[in-house]
Amino acid sequence: MNIILFGPPGAGKGTQSEALAKDFSLFQISTGDLLREEIKKRSDLGNKIKSIIDKGMLVSDQTINNLIENILSNKKFDNRLIFDGYPRNINQAKDLDKLIKKYKQKIASVLSLNVDKSVITKRILGRQVCSNCGLTFNEFFKPANIKEHDCDPKFLQKRTDDNEKTIVSRLETYTKETLPILNYYKNQNLLYEVDGMGDIDEIYSKISQIIRSLDT
Ligand SMILES: [Zn+2]
Repeated sequence: MNIILFGPPGAGKGTQSEALAKDFSLFQISTGDLLREEIKKRSDLGNKIKSIIDKGMLVSDQTINNLIENILSNKKFDNRLIFDGYPRNINQAKDLDKLIKKYKQKIASVLSLNVDKSVITKRILGRQVCSNCGLTFNEFFKPANIKEHDCDPKFLQKRTDDNEKTIVSRLETYTKETLPILNYYKNQNLLYEVDGMGDIDEIYSKISQIIRSLDT
């Protein structure tokens, strides 16, 4: 089955996709990773992508579509994908539909994590990284405790670019850009809205339950 997962910044979407990929033997596909891999290959397309990104420009939907086609045409990934952060807009969603049809695959479901704005703010603002050992914690949701972390608390650092203003604006941008895509999938009866307000395990159990119930 192919699955698409949507979630606002800070909702733990990456963590959830990673766990789903592992438990359901799926391959996690993010366009960011695809772009980086292509650049690393130094292919013609990779070089083109690099020059676009170096100029600070956005990679076109067509380029993204080519990279996605490479994946969908690969038998290794046949009906075993979890799309993380893709499609980004309606054009990409329509392109994806065409490719899915072309390679005789199916989108089994589209999951969207719904998270309260104040919770997202806490998730992002509470994020801490230990500069000594590299473990990550959250001041509000996953506080560092002696049992699993014995470094001095002075090593716990927060990302400085995450101020409230950027969080709110990232969330607004996400909602504005994602709503039409969610409606697009809603009209195809593929959309499952998942309450993303619990902790990581709670949310994961809701998501995995939905996926297990899919008739694929
Ligand atoms: Zn540490």
